[in-house]
Amino acid sequence: MKISVIGTGYVGLVTGTCLAEIGNDITCVDKDHKKIENLKNGILPIYEAHLEDMLIRNIGENRLHFTTSVEDAVRHATIIFIAVGTPSHENGDIDMSQVDEVAGEIGKSLDAYKIIVNKSTVPVGSVKRVAEIIQRHLKREVEFDVISNPEFLREGSAVLDTFQGDRIVIGSTSKKATKILHDLYRPLKQKIFTTDPESAELIKYASNAFLATKISFINEIANICEKTGANVNEVAKGMGLDKRIGEKFLNAGIGFGGACFPKDVKGLIKIGEKLNYDFRIIRETLQVNEEQKMKPIMILDNLFPDLRGVQITVLGLTFKPDTDDIREAPSLDIINELHKRGAKIKAYDPIAIENAKRVLKLPIHYFHEAYDAIAGSDAVLLLTEWKEFKELNVRKIRSLMNRRVFIDGRNIFEAKAMRAKGFEYYGIGIDNCQ
Ligand code: NAD
Repeated sequence: MKISVIGTGYVGLVTGTCLAEIGNDITCVDKDHKKIENLKNGILPIYEAHLEDMLIRNIGENRLHFTTSVEDAVRHATIIFIAVGTPSHENGDIDMSQVDEVAGEIGKSLDAYKIIVNKSTVPVGSVKRVAEIIQRHLKREVEFDVISNPEFLREGSAVLDTFQGDRIVIGSTSKKATKILHDLYRPLKQKIFTTDPESAELIKYASNAFLATKISFINEIANICEKTGANVNEVAKGMGLDKRIGEKFLNAGIGFGGACFPKDVKGLIKIGEKLNYDFRIIRETLQVNEEQKMKPIMILDNLFPDLRGVQITVLGLTFKPDTDDIREAPSLDIINELHKRGAKIKAYDPIAIENAKRVLKLPIHYFHEAYDAIAGSDAVLLLTEWKEFKELNVRKIRSLMNRRVFIDGRNIFEAKAMRAKGFEYYGIGIDNCQ
């Protein structure tokens, strides 16, 4: 099928490349000229496992093209995916300006029947909103359908998720568009759940808010564990054995971040507010998360009367492993707080240092190797559960540190073993008495 994907970020690029891989003819569009030039030369703007090889192969086999022209892309395709950003406004409301702009451009260029697919995460009612904008911009009468097809891929496993996701959701009132989308997705052999557009739009927000709530829930259990001598890792294991609960998203830690959970939870609160509905549970989900991010600082405050001049090493800057995305990562808030308190900060991340430098305009000393970042430190803060951190030689870490405070914000090490090796080890939701 001939398909265009407008917005070549984490979602658009992965969607476009994966749909090319299963034999479609794809044009990816972005207004960022540099990004498009680089992509034409096989240079990726993001890190995502398996993506680079697939992208280069599909460019080589002439199934994947890049352009900055929405007009060309609209003419090229029968199906047009909208995958631009929908960030939060300052007040938490969903910023629809990128979607609205693209809808207008599509309307101006529409020359024959096409299906426009809302893949961006957008509020309930956006299928109608996009259809109205397109209709207003049409240069001549032409038939089109707008449908909802929210995206559930996770950064870090986005390619795998596209090929082996749990479900594909299609929200549509058009039989014709629904059939074409079923034909497109059939090779992926996933469960396709077809529903009305409003339900599809809400499924995305409800899913993310639910998962975020699961994280805040286990973090509150972690706080109870710390006061009772229980161990949250054990509690989570025991809970997860119940199939109704499931073991996933029960890792206590320093909270969630990223480009989706915080903004989608805020977005759902706003959707509720506009309907005069106070979505209390997820307001608390966010509040708990804000407090949880500051756990490492609270632990440091108990250990150092004053953080001025204390040498701290931050291991891990991304909100989760296997991505270079630092949007809304807990590390950003933690580092800002450390800086405010006068700590000296060293940082290491396997792939996100350049992204961090762009966002954190602070005097941080960045390193390209974990041990170099740790040398001479009074305290290590482990903030992302990168696999390579699990494989660090802890004896070597101990020998390199000045004072041996180790705060494990993701509970990747075993407290007893770390303490036996001479660390002042602190985790989340475990007995932190040394
Ligand atoms: P992103 O910021 O990485 O990419 C968005 C891209 O759209 C950018 O490259 C930008 O230049 C481009 N763009 C903006 N306006 C444009 C225009 N008028 N014409 C052409 N290109 C334009 O965003 P993302 O992380 O890929 O997210 C996209 C959407 O998918 C959001 O709504 C997000 O909530 C949703 N989503 C994201 C994820 C994720 O893990 N990142 C997962 C599921 C859903």
